[in-house]
Amino acid sequence: MTNRFSLAVHGGAGTILRRQMTAEKETAYHAGIKLALEAGYAVLEKGGDAVDAVVEAVCALEDNPLFNAGRGAVFTADGKHEMDAAVMEGTNRHVGATAGICGPRNPVRVARLIMDQSEHVFFGADAAIKMARDAGLRFEEDDYFHTEVRWHALQETLKLRAEGKESDDPARRHGTVGAVACDANGKLAAATSTGGMTAKAPGRIGDSPVIGAGTFADNQTCAISATGHGEVFIRYCAAHEIAARMRHRGESLAVAADHIVMEDLGKNDGSGGLVAVDANGNVSMPMNSEGMYRGVVTQDGRFETFIYRDDEPHQG
Ligand code: ASP
Repeated sequence: MTNRFSLAVHGGAGTILRRQMTAEKETAYHAGIKLALEAGYAVLEKGGDAVDAVVEAVCALEDNPLFNAGRGAVFTADGKHEMDAAVMEGTNRHVGATAGICGPRNPVRVARLIMDQSEHVFFGADAAIKMARDAGLRFEEDDYFHTEVRWHALQETLKLRAEGKESDDPARRHGTVGAVACDANGKLAAATSTGGMTAKAPGRIGDSPVIGAGTFADNQTCAISATGHGEVFIRYCAAHEIAARMRHRGESLAVAADHIVMEDLGKNDGSGGLVAVDANGNVSMPMNSEGMYRGVVTQDGRFETFIYRDDEPHQG
């Protein structure tokens, strides 16, 4: 027993540009992150399992239209939603992942279902949706996933693209939600869920459900959930590379995670960040972007949330 649990969550590296941030929005983002921390903390505090904690935390973020996952998922270039999600537990590397789904209210629960009920680890949309229906998971109609902010972002992005330009607004380019936890038994887990990138090509799959890229957990090293330019996170096997550096080079979580985010990703157009935890409950949340909605809670029940990189902890 480490008897020291911790949980970290993120709501994506696509933070609103500082000049567009208002006090009201800031409060809403801090509150959304805190709600997710509370959902996971409620599990861990009772001696619950790391997997349950990360799934509950991610569901809270998927239900919140502010974040790019579940209800607030961004639109593809053809105006649809295609959501990706994964969950992994660090004891025996059990995994469940799915890509390109729309309908289930909580894509992370579909990933969990796959992890718990299938001998396979990764299902495409049709099979995953059938499994979710058969299992009685909750579904929503298309209009549940339609938010004006995301629709507007799609129109703006398509307009820029037609002019041969790309948006440099991170809030439009990025977003994902995720959680990592170390429970009181030293067990690790990670979960990630996303709508992907605004105006992505239909069928495009990002790093979030790709194990070892956007999601990873192994009790020997760490649990990771990432957010950012998915193609680069996949090419650099970002999450697994952090675990590998810890295992083979003996690096601490903070050193390994920083290296990958600032060097491998940061110097190769891989803007974004991640939340990570090791088996002693140490948390690291590096980013090379202007911000990342994120928060952490440890056993002492102190909740801290952050938006921009250099923010002081917000204890709401
Ligand atoms: N990593 C996500 C993807 O590429 C998007 C993001 O987190 O910004 O699908």
